[in-house]
Amino acid sequence: MNRDEYVLKFPEHCKTCEGWGIVRGHSPIFTISECRCLKAGNCPRCGTPHALDAAVRCAACGWDVDDEERGLPS
Ligand SMILES: [Zn+2]
Ligand SMILES: [Zn+2]
Repeated sequence: MNRDEYVLKFPEHCKTCEGWGIVRGHSPIFTISECRCLKAGNCPRCGTPHALDAAVRCAACGWDVDDEERGLPS
């Protein structure tokens, strides 16, 4: 899947983390933190509110925090 296909398929994906559920900080040091959508339990990919279960997996689209291709392709 390329970026265009991803955007077409998941138009409601989180624009902050681009579907990854994590955001990378750039300064002053390289950091990775959970995106707000993930903390709120909303799916980063399909945007369904409170869709994530205890295993951090989306009940609606199958987004999984351990899936290596869960976010918008770069
Ligand atoms: Zn997000
Ligand atoms: Zn989802």
